[in-house]
Amino acid sequence: MATVLVADDEKNILQLARMYLQAEGFTVETAANGREALEKVRVAKPDLLVLDLMMPEVDGWEVCRRLRKESDLPIIMLTARGDDVDKIVGLELGADDYMTKPFNARELVARVKAVLRRYSAGRSPEKVLQVGDLRIDPERSRVVLLEAGDRVLAGFDEEASRYAQETLRSRRVDVRVRTPVAEVTAAGARLGSGEWLAAAVVIWAGGVTVDGTLAATLPTAHGRGGRVTLEPDLSVAGHPEVFVVGDAGSVPWGPARPEPCPQVAQVAIQSGRHAAHQIARQLAGRPTAPFNYRDKGLMATIGRHAAVAQLRHGVIVRGTLGWLAWLGLHLVYLVGFRNRVVVLVNWFWRYLDWPSGPRLIVADVDADL
Ligand SMILES: Cc1cc2nc3c(=O)[nH]c(=O)nc-3n(C[C@H](O)[C@H](O)[C@H](O)COP(=O)(O)OP(=O)(O)OC[C@H]3O[C@@H](n4cnc5c(N)ncnc54)[C@H](O)[C@@H]3O)c2cc1C
Repeated sequence: MATVLVADDEKNILQLARMYLQAEGFTVETAANGREALEKVRVAKPDLLVLDLMMPEVDGWEVCRRLRKESDLPIIMLTARGDDVDKIVGLELGADDYMTKPFNARELVARVKAVLRRYSAGRSPEKVLQVGDLRIDPERSRVVLLEAGDRVLAGFDEEASRYAQETLRSRRVDVRVRTPVAEVTAAGARLGSGEWLAAAVVIWAGGVTVDGTLAATLPTAHGRGGRVTLEPDLSVAGHPEVFVVGDAGSVPWGPARPEPCPQVAQVAIQSGRHAAHQIARQLAGRPTAPFNYRDKGLMATIGRHAAVAQLRHGVIVRGTLGWLAWLGLHLVYLVGFRNRVVVLVNWFWRYLDWPSGPRLIVADVDADL
């Protein structure tokens, strides 16, 4: 469903418009002044803007003027100024419709629908990506990232988090921190504030659990996310013949640091190797040794030419260099020369074919799905 941004400095108008538009299934964003409206247009990518004229900081005319330089976003001006000359100036600046206050909220909804109908009828179909039944209009797609904590990549240093956040925002991802989710369904998410965020695709990444795996059925203690609580040598308490490694286990950092390691590939690799050595030791009749995690740093990719690598001793590599480091490391860890070559060729192809903004990959979607 379409997203409508309502920009007005009167709180009760925002509430009224939100209530009526949401009742018709629209996702509603609000802005209390012109500067905020311009910012929200950039990150929230609304399908239509309802714009008050007399707003603090940047007024509605200026918002309209700036937007028209770069976009054909439908705009309905909503203002107390009912003079003919104001209407004419508004429409000449590029507004698609004009309503005066006081207004009937149902009329506003009807006008929003009418403007959107006219607008979508006039859009050129070649802008829309289509694979089978899947249709994506990159101009109208938006990506919203919800994070309950006060920063993304919380496991990283604050500088790395800031870089990731700014890079995502510059690529038109609407990053919302301190935004807990109260309910998530296939059709969207309800935020802690009560706001409903409708979405065509919902990816829930709020914690990995062992639910549905063999590890979940083990009759032993389980920690956060159901991860199996382990002895220092990574065996299960009371069962020295059973080892759990990687994401399924609550793998301790080491004998002096019993808290669990993060669920990342290095922990899986190192704990797997350690468990194999302990099994060999048991077979040789030798005592097992405790696991000690060797932290080689953290890496996260953000997009084209943007990744962040946090090396040991707090060294942070980011931007293109971080991105190349991320790509190189993942290639090195692939098994087999042929796999590496295939992945490298695929990456190169993607690089040439990569759209700007939030990354949309439709080429691999099977039309029969
Ligand atoms: C989207 C995403 C991005 C990530 N990015 C990074 C990153 O950038 N860097 C990083 O270090 N880590 C990253 N991780 C984490 C990393 O992938 C995991 O920590 C790592 O894969 C854990 O390895 P594992 O062997 O424990 O589990 P897995 O890799 O999950 O392997 C377990 C396997 O067991 C199979 N399995 C489960 N039950 C059964 C069964 N009953 N019978 C047979 N097979 C079964 C599963 O299908 C799966 O293939 C990411 C994870 C996700 C989901």
